[in-house]
Formats: sequence, C-alpha cells, structure tokens
Amino acid sequence: MSQDKDQKHKERQQRLKEQVDQRVEAAQKEQGIFQVITGNGKGKSTSGFGVVTRCVGYDKKAAVVQFIKGEWDCGERRLLEKHGVPFAVMKTGFTWDTQNRESDTKAAQETWQQAKAFLADESIDVVLLDELTYMITYQYLDLEEVLAAIRSRPHMQSVVVTGRAAHRELIELADTVSEVKNIKHAFDSGVKALQGFDY
Ligand code: ATP
Ligand code: MG
Repeated sequence: MSQDKDQKHKERQQRLKEQVDQRVEAAQKEQGIFQVITGNGKGKSTSGFGVVTRCVGYDKKAAVVQFIKGEWDCGERRLLEKHGVPFAVMKTGFTWDTQNRESDTKAAQETWQQAKAFLADESIDVVLLDELTYMITYQYLDLEEVLAAIRSRPHMQSVVVTGRAAHRELIELADTVSEVKNIKHAFDSGVKALQGFDY
C-alpha cells in the first residue's frame, strides 16, 4: 500500500519536473526586466532593495531613486552608497506632511531628471524607482513620459517600481507585477517604526 503511494508520488513529481523543465527551456529571451511591486502591505521597498543588493553582489551596477523619502533615514542607503550605488533622493517637497502642489511638483520633476539619466545609462544594470507610483497618482510626473523612458531604456537594464496603487498602464508595461497584501501590520497595534527593520 505504502509502496504504491510512493510510486504514485514519484510519478507525479516526475511529471511536474518535466513540465518545469519544458518551461525553463522555453524561456530563452535575454532582456532586462521591468517589475512593479504594489499593494497595501509592507515589503515593497524592502523587496526593491533586495534586487539592488543582488545586483551589487555580482559587482553589477545599480542606481536608486527615492521619491517622497524626504529627510527620512534609510538603512539601505547607508549600506549601498558604500558600495558605489548612486542615490537620487527627493529632498524637499512631498511627504505626508506637506500638501504644496507647486513645490511638490518641482521636487518630483527634479528627481525625475536624475531618474531619466539612470534610465538612459547603458552601464546601469538595475534602477530602483522607489515610491514612483505616487508621483503619477498626484500628476506630479507625466505618465506618458515615465512610460516612454522605461520603454526606451537599454535592452539589458532592469527597472523596479514600488508604491501603492500602481497605475494600470505601468502594470500593463511591466513584465513582472507583484501585489503585497496587508494581512496585519505592527503599527496597527501601536508598535513604533523600528530602525534597522522599518527603515
Ligand atoms: P517597506 O519599506 O518596509 O518595504 P513598503 O515599501 O511596502 O514598506 P510603504 O507603503 O512604502 O511600504 O510605507 C512606508 C512605511 O510605512 C514603512 O515604514 C512601512 O513599515 C510602513 N507601512 C507599510 N505598510 C503599512 C501598513 N499596512 N500599515 C501601516 N504602516 C505600513
Ligand atoms: Mg515603500
């Protein structure tokens, strides 16, 4: 009886392996990947920085653009700058506290110029555009311009965009899209954001 079960399991695994092997064989295109990480749960920026870290681990070149970070501290920045990763950080303007459209738009536009330079640079393998989605939602950046810059980037360059409520057209253009779902968050039970964990 148990032998029969073992045999069935083996056959099932064998079929699964064949299917996976076929799909691996079929995936032959070599190109940079555009990934969107969206949703209301925690882990979007962490995941984007994970990709940057992988890239740096292979001595490849990555660049980070942080929209809406303002003056906040950032553990990843402290580490990655030491490894030669350039950071373009929106210094002033949009945070949850300010609601000045004019200064926010100006700050977003300035930061976007740096993003555009990274997206045109053949030597950069991965560009992280952290919290970009909000710039489109608030119309601080032109959607078409953002899509065009991502579309015309170097062939082998990968791009990761993070932020809640990603625009439908960003999702359409992306190769890989993940939605991080909020099940619960420590903040809801009164736990303070923790250095080295939340930022
Ligand atoms: P992380 O930077 O930890 O990967 P994130 O990028 O997914 O988080 P954002 O939407 O950018 O999350 O929010 C930034 C900050 O808000 C983070 O410090 C995060 O811990 C916190 N946060 C994320 N999701 C939630 C949530 N569902 N409720 C409360 N706070 C949250
Ligand atoms: Mg984030």
